[in-house]
Amino acid sequence: MLLYNTLTRRRDEFVPIEEGKVKIYTCGPTVYHYAHIGNLRTYMMEDILDRYMRYLGYDVKRVMNITDVGHLTSDGDTGDDKMLKGAKREKKTVMEIAKFYTDAFFADCKKLNIRIPDVIEPATSCIDDFINVISSLIEKGYAYEAGGNIYFDTSKLEKYYLFNDFNEEDLEVGVRDGVEADSNKRNRADFVLWFTKSKFDDQELKWDSPWGIGYPGWHIECSCIAMKHLGEYVDIHCGGIDNAFPHHTNEIAQSEAYLGHKWCNWWMHVLHLNTNSGKMSKSSGEFLTVSLLESKGYDPLVYRFFCLQSHYRKSLVFSYENLDNAAISYKKLVARIVPLLKDTDKSVDAEALAALKKRFTDALDNDLNTSLAVTALYDVLKAQCNAATKLAAIADFDTVLQLDLIAAAQRVIDEEEKARAEKEAALAADPVARAIEEKIAARAAAKKAKNFAEADRIRDELAAEGIVLIDTAAGTTWKKAE
Ligand code: AMP
Ligand code: ZN
Repeated sequence: MLLYNTLTRRRDEFVPIEEGKVKIYTCGPTVYHYAHIGNLRTYMMEDILDRYMRYLGYDVKRVMNITDVGHLTSDGDTGDDKMLKGAKREKKTVMEIAKFYTDAFFADCKKLNIRIPDVIEPATSCIDDFINVISSLIEKGYAYEAGGNIYFDTSKLEKYYLFNDFNEEDLEVGVRDGVEADSNKRNRADFVLWFTKSKFDDQELKWDSPWGIGYPGWHIECSCIAMKHLGEYVDIHCGGIDNAFPHHTNEIAQSEAYLGHKWCNWWMHVLHLNTNSGKMSKSSGEFLTVSLLESKGYDPLVYRFFCLQSHYRKSLVFSYENLDNAAISYKKLVARIVPLLKDTDKSVDAEALAALKKRFTDALDNDLNTSLAVTALYDVLKAQCNAATKLAAIADFDTVLQLDLIAAAQRVIDEEEKARAEKEAALAADPVARAIEEKIAARAAAKKAKNFAEADRIRDELAAEGIVLIDTAAGTTWKKAE
């Protein structure tokens, strides 16, 4: 399998550290607000990675943190604490906010068929782990105390800017945002490991530490949580592209300084979902959430389908027009599965199935090309094999794609059945209507047999009884003449 690695800047053949096992770490949400559908694009594409690794037979262990402390509004350690901001906005405590939005995040994941990682760890439950690693970094000379805070000293590294050729100007983001630069830092790229001189007097969550009462920086959380559950080596670390710098760059700096060796082999970054007006935001414009899409009548899996139709390494533009197109395609796809389910031949052609599966794995082996994997689904529908084989292929692909295609087709059949039963019950209570329906059925049969004279005769007979027929694409209905 070829998987793009931001570290090497090319697609490399994926080889796990330990045969048959894959250790994946995912940066989890900062639970100060709902996740927007851009955040969820990232989690969905990471879900494809997770599920495809399992599909290939790997024993996958995936760990995700929940950021419930320490993430400031600017990733360069400036601005307000996002959690505190959320608590003030809603006049609740930080822990109430964290609980509410953690639950909301998992509810969204469920709606989008995103598998919950094997380990979920909130940052606030690992304070001792952070303190241990920070103490060791100070001992090794990689960290220093200044103005009460503990900073990582990036000048101690041979190479800090690993992903891109960033220049230090990038770190002036905070200054551009109108926030004071931190004069305690020895080097511009240095970052906070532990805050004690909090500029937030009303910071709710603080813990005792060797350096005074305070709270951890955001970056140290992910390094420590990954090490706690995955050990000293990680196969794949994922996140949205905005996390590459400074968050992941800082994670590598402190983890490798602490461990004394390379930490993580692959870095997978998902490009952003944008709107026509630019970056997706939680504070300005329409706040796009899964619940909002539902309130507008969209099935969350239509959003999943929309995302799968493009590659994770390309940014994607969200618009309702694009989502409407995805909804139409999804409905058509499901409609084409309905007759397969009705077919009574249940024998699967193993050879034909293997050929169909190969197209699917070829697509995902090519750097998780989900849009080609969706094309492989359409190839199944067009294939020269029986319905049972097609259904087996669709069910197999859907263990990864998670579009609930067969369940959706079954729902269409159940609804058809229900409508038929309701109509039958209504006709049983109304013999006149039943007689009309029988004549309509006889007329349809005559038309089918090209006996148009008979069809016209039946229509005229009904007209004489004061019944007008209305022919539509879906069949014939009737009403009493006015
Ligand atoms: P946060 O909750 O802000 O820490 O972000 C959660 C995840 O969403 C991170 O992996 C981010 O990199 C990612 N992310 C943020 N904005 C977007 C976006 N517009 N499109 C896709 N992913 C995003
Ligand atoms: Zn992280």
